Amino acid sequence: MLKIALLGSTGSIGRQVLSTVARHSDKFQIVSLSANSSYQLFQKQINEFKPKIACLSDPTSAQKLTEIPSETTLYTGENAMLHAICEDCDIVMVAVSGFAGLAPVLEAIEMGKDIALANKETLVAGGNIVMKAVKEKGVRLIPVDSEHSAIFQCLNFDLNAKFKKLILTASGGAFRNYTKEQIKNLKASEALKHPNWMMGQKITVDCATLLNKGLEVIEACHLYSAPLEKVEAIVHPESIIHSMVEFDDGAIMAQLGFPSMEIPIQLALTYPERLKTDVPFLDLAGKSLTFGKIDVEKYPCFDLALKSFKIGDNYSCAMNAANEAAVGLYLQDRIGFYDISDAISYVLDKTERMKVTKESLLYTDATARRLIYEKYGDLK
Ligand code: NDP
Ligand code: MG
Repeated sequence: MLKIALLGSTGSIGRQVLSTVARHSDKFQIVSLSANSSYQLFQKQINEFKPKIACLSDPTSAQKLTEIPSETTLYTGENAMLHAICEDCDIVMVAVSGFAGLAPVLEAIEMGKDIALANKETLVAGGNIVMKAVKEKGVRLIPVDSEHSAIFQCLNFDLNAKFKKLILTASGGAFRNYTKEQIKNLKASEALKHPNWMMGQKITVDCATLLNKGLEVIEACHLYSAPLEKVEAIVHPESIIHSMVEFDDGAIMAQLGFPSMEIPIQLALTYPERLKTDVPFLDLAGKSLTFGKIDVEKYPCFDLALKSFKIGDNYSCAMNAANEAAVGLYLQDRIGFYDISDAISYVLDKTERMKVTKESLLYTDATARRLIYEKYGDLK
């Protein structure tokens, strides 16, 4: 029985983790659940999975929980999530969104726990210290993001395997069939119509700006100890190939499948074993696979992410925070689509270089957000 601590249980990934657990209840057990404020769904989840620990960060929402199972201890408040990483768990599934994932990841490593990582922002902001701590503590950091899981599969589940190049595929996001002129005025409600994947709001907007692919290139560099030159991103609108690895002899391995996160989620918990999922099998007959270059004119966020990584130190953290703040404003229709890239440029110009430590990242993240809110107004 694999005992799982699940952070971000009410989100898109969190809900799919729970359906995986329910499907194989003889193999998986939930020992703790954590979310922010979605108390109604959280109530249902704690009633169904009866975790030993339940953490709802927002105190007002926590007060609205009507019944707590007798075996469950409830925590609330800003750092409540850290209580979910308990001695009793074997693995921590990090499915919270954003920079909020960094502290629990560092805590889990410190406690010697294996981590299944969906949250890419953690590696983008703090990859240097996270990967160092992973090595020092000898824990496993298992990719859940579909591209990084695809690469993991192509490398026979060996994060240290040799390769020539990693090739990440990108669907192109909601605006792939629009011109730059048309995109300029498109609202968040349009950006949220992703053609191939059902995901949380923030990542869906990141897919529309292609910042998501920039984050994933950085994530791959950290996970697979690769310099930027060895990681490429290409547009593949069909989302059938989830990513590829090129080897020294010219061979390319690819992982294909129906676009569902249930496959990488479940595999992170069971690899090298593969269990049944409820995902449809892919019928390839009549399908075509096409590939194209990323249009960096149309999607400036992609290049800005790479630029921040090239500058190094705390710059990717600043870029990530600027994006999180700007996407929050875009989702409230307070700024336009291309203000997101402008906001990131603005913050990168104003960021002060610092060596990466947990403290410098917290400072960098808070400063970047403040810069955005001062420039464009606070979130409502
Ligand atoms: P969602 O927005 O759907 O869910 C986020 C979850 O995190 C919710 O449970 C939310 O709680 C919780 N949460 C957010 N902030 C906090 C906080 N400060 N304290 C405690 N809990 C918090 O996101 P997704 O599931 O889409 O994405 C999660 C992560 O996985 C992201 O980093 C994303 O990039 C990555 N990912 C997602 C994919 C997908 O298909 N969705 C694919 C690949 C990667 P509440 O509901 O209460 O607000
Ligand atoms: Mg992905």
